[in-house]
Amino acid sequence: LQSRLPDVGTTIFSVMSALAAKHGAVNLGQGFPDFDSAPGLVEAVHAAMQSGHNQYPPMPGIPALRQALSAKTERLYGRRYDPDTEITVTAGATQAILTSILALVHPGDEVIVLEPCYDSYGPSITLAGGTVVRVPLSPEGFHLDIDGLRDALSPRTRAILINTPHNPTGSVWSAADMQALAELLRPTDVLVISDEVYEHMVFDGQPHASVSAHPELAARSVVISSFGKTFHVTGWKVGHVAAPAPLMAEFRKVHQFNVFTVNTPMQHGLAAWLADPSRYEELPAFYQRKRDRFRAGLSGTRFELLPCPGSYFQCVDYSRISTLPDQAFCEWLTAEVGVAAIPLSAFYATPPQRPIVRFCFAKTETTLDEALKRLSRL
Ligand code: PMP
Ligand code: GLN
Repeated sequence: LQSRLPDVGTTIFSVMSALAAKHGAVNLGQGFPDFDSAPGLVEAVHAAMQSGHNQYPPMPGIPALRQALSAKTERLYGRRYDPDTEITVTAGATQAILTSILALVHPGDEVIVLEPCYDSYGPSITLAGGTVVRVPLSPEGFHLDIDGLRDALSPRTRAILINTPHNPTGSVWSAADMQALAELLRPTDVLVISDEVYEHMVFDGQPHASVSAHPELAARSVVISSFGKTFHVTGWKVGHVAAPAPLMAEFRKVHQFNVFTVNTPMQHGLAAWLADPSRYEELPAFYQRKRDRFRAGLSGTRFELLPCPGSYFQCVDYSRISTLPDQAFCEWLTAEVGVAAIPLSAFYATPPQRPIVRFCFAKTETTLDEALKRLSRL
């Protein structure tokens, strides 16, 4: 059998979660909260189920949820997407990314990703018959390298995939980065696929630089987010996409034969939940407290903390602790110290072998404190 994805194995997230379970380690590897959403969200979903919202919803998602998303995007980023023609509810951000790429990328097209990057990007481009072009983020701080990006553009470039706040490094784009991208792309017809699943995890009072807030970029962009991240329900697999109507029309052509539509009761629950803006406005402070607690706890160890202006990931340099390569270090940390992490090399095609690993701090204080207790001897 000839594989469509010959280079792909089991994702590092599954591998490290299994290893954490085997060793009874505190799992700060795979990115998911170990706490539930507020009970009201689950109750809203129950209510939807009990009142008969259990059959197929409309293909792009229920109108109430698309309207709520439109209102939220306008409120936060100042752009109004038409709920009828410019917003679609997806089965998580993962499906939104794959469907966007399948809809917009033709065989032979080049798609630029900025490395390190989330592990689904490369295989999604490959499945569409596209060529992955990898441009490194700056080695210091993992920021956009606009010159590197300029050098990578070619007449075959169809799209660039960006991600802010960034998984795995926690770096964030500034409004100036967005402006630089807009100017670079102005003479081209290159599309932007913007993965903003951590949009509500930007810290220290900084605004999230959404592509939606930049009219020129938004006109050529598909913007993706995830309720799994936003409302601590990663297992629900509900996400959403916003794009100008002509792009969204192409997205929906693929979406309807990819999943057709997404589970109904969760959509009703989420629509009701979004009616109160405090549910997402409180999130930066909520996660900042976790970040600060985790960073403070690590400050007494030999780990060197990298900056963490956004996301729910803290990267650390462990070169003062070990000379192991990062994957081996994560395996050792899981088995011997009892804390699971993710090696940064998993986010590269050809890893530079830097001594950096990623911890997820979307955990209860109890979990974070137990992890810190174990890490404190390092
Ligand atoms: N993009 C990034 C950057 C992510 O970290 C994740 C979550 N693992 C996803 C996309 C996928 O999100 P979802 O769980 O909604 O499919
Ligand atoms: N996005 C999550 C992470 O980066 C995990 C998602 C997954 O397991 N595929 O850890």
